[in-house]
Amino acid sequence: MSDYKRIKCPNCGNENPRKLHETPDKNKVLYYSMQGTPVYAKQVKCGDCGMIF
Ligand SMILES: [Zn+2]
Repeated sequence: MSDYKRIKCPNCGNENPRKLHETPDKNKVLYYSMQGTPVYAKQVKCGDCGMIF
């Protein structure tokens, strides 16, 4: 059983994890932790076509 999350670029179909970079979306705060630090939603940037999704 694998819990590996497969991400795929919806634009060019790239699914190479080395070319898909997860970054926090600082415009989208999911919630604030008990320490008061914001937890951002994640977005992925495709290293091939540059699309952010
Ligand atoms: Zn792409």
